Amino acid sequence: MSRLARRATLALAALAAAAAAALPAAAQPFPSRTLTVIVPFAAGGPTDTVTRLVAESMGRELGQTIVVENAGGAGGTIGAQRVANAKPDGYTLLLHHIGMATTPTLYRRLAYDPVGGFETIGLVTEVPMTLVAKKDFPANTLAEAIAVIRRDQEKLNYANAGIGAASHLCGLLLMKAVDAPMTTVPFRGTGPAMQEVISGRIDLMCDQTTSTTEQIKSGAIKVFATTTPARLEALPEVPTSAEAGLPEFQVTVWHGLYAPKGTPAEITGRLSKALQVALADPKLVARFAELGTAPVAAAMATPEAHRKFWLADIAKWKPIIQGAGQYAD
Ligand code: ASP
Repeated sequence: MSRLARRATLALAALAAAAAAALPAAAQPFPSRTLTVIVPFAAGGPTDTVTRLVAESMGRELGQTIVVENAGGAGGTIGAQRVANAKPDGYTLLLHHIGMATTPTLYRRLAYDPVGGFETIGLVTEVPMTLVAKKDFPANTLAEAIAVIRRDQEKLNYANAGIGAASHLCGLLLMKAVDAPMTTVPFRGTGPAMQEVISGRIDLMCDQTTSTTEQIKSGAIKVFATTTPARLEALPEVPTSAEAGLPEFQVTVWHGLYAPKGTPAEITGRLSKALQVALADPKLVARFAELGTAPVAAAMATPEAHRKFWLADIAKWKPIIQGAGQYAD
């Protein structure tokens, strides 16, 4: 090749590279690189478990890796803030739970907009909770546990994942139902809290079945009741709260996938489709079942159904939180 021809070839190659770099993001197929999903709680807890299963399956469908990053603390608001302030390009997502519905009322001062800061992608699952205790807790039924809680309330401690977390709400319901406040110990997520229940340093905790089922089955912890109207297939021997004498002690924990406000609708739509495929993945469905839960129906894994459900849940919790005067600040 002559020197001139070589120079022309090099110039052409440089031009092509510059043109590719200048290609507007919208013209590149989404997703063209690794995605990150933020879990606003510590590793090893229920939100983390659900997210890892969904991320693996969604990543396969999208043809890209989805990295799961834990950003726990302050009842999930630290991780949520990260995503609200992230670039709205679909590459940074949030998988959060019912806390997205309680935070807007519980926290009167936040450095991000807890509703307007997000686009919805789809609901993921609704998970039952269980009331569990360290394995040498001196009770074997909910009635016995309530008697111990009432008698020893000053000595007992109850773990939660911070204000607005499901374990916090569940604990409030329990303490109200039995009229006995206990010392609460906040963690960055119930993953690390579970280790403390297993080791016996924490007495009691409410947590989603996605975290408690295997610990209950292995005998690492005790269980007193599920927080659901009907018994669970994964834990058929565990009585419901109503059967065990506390009908008002009921809570389930829904989870949803979000993107920062301003993420284009084509991208949230693409992510929603991938979420629907992930939720129908037989491997994911089977694992969810082992953990006492099930994916939502495909019609609920859409941006519209998710938003409607979320806004209704914010409206449901608002008077409850305001009535109780329970604010995070
Ligand atoms: N289960 C926790 C909660 O209390 C959060 C977590 O660690 O997933 O909401």
